[in-house]
Amino acid sequence: MRDNTFKISYSRINTYSFCPEKYKLIYIENKYIPLNAAISFGVSIHKTLEQYYKLDLNTYESMQDSLNFCWESSGYETPQEAYVNYLRAQNILKDYWQTYGKYKAKNILTEKSFQAEIGQYPFIGIIDRIDENEDGTRELVDYKTHREIWDQQTIDNDLQLSLYCYACKKALGFIPEKIAIYFLSHNQKIYTTRDEQKIQQAIDISLDVANKINNNEFVPNTSKCEFCDFKKTCQYSIAKKFEELK
Ligand code: SF4
Repeated sequence: MRDNTFKISYSRINTYSFCPEKYKLIYIENKYIPLNAAISFGVSIHKTLEQYYKLDLNTYESMQDSLNFCWESSGYETPQEAYVNYLRAQNILKDYWQTYGKYKAKNILTEKSFQAEIGQYPFIGIIDRIDENEDGTRELVDYKTHREIWDQQTIDNDLQLSLYCYACKKALGFIPEKIAIYFLSHNQKIYTTRDEQKIQQAIDISLDVANKINNNEFVPNTSKCEFCDFKKTCQYSIAKKFEELK
């Protein structure tokens, strides 16, 4: 049994669901994942929008200035790759500002840390943004910076959004009337809803994962090795490769 005051978060649940061994390597053995282009790009965009809203800026130039200030150039394989991605970030923010940034809704919070509970476990995370629209509705927005765009069904079933609605209710005292994922690479905001049943399903899934972690259940999922940051060093991935060569 682990100390059951350990904290869970969406990214911990997601990592465990991908592969319990990966969870163990990162969160128990503290193995380091080197910064890569996707993570670095996401951090730069999130920080830029955080600064734009927290400083209550309102011009296109100030958004680009924020990007210059918040740009993280490490994690790219070459300076050229970093520069191409910097230009991509500029374009994304230009599109964002033209369709959304200049018509600012009242921002209630941005990059807000929260702590709630799931079962006996503290549940922590950061909500990208909540706005109050002109009609009084509150809108939770989660930014995605990857190139992929999800279909409606995937968004409707997204565990993170369900958990963040739960966190809003518990930590902030309300469930947002509107929930959206903003796919910044496509300049598309796609809306979804969450009812109590969906939120309860997400809590049940998370509690099940937390209990498995608490019971030290770390069975490797070698079907995911190909997509894993540890594929070159993990003993199970290496053993799998040897098996395939036989
Ligand atoms: S390399 Fe495979 S078994 Fe190892 S942590 Fe990654 S997904 Fe799991």
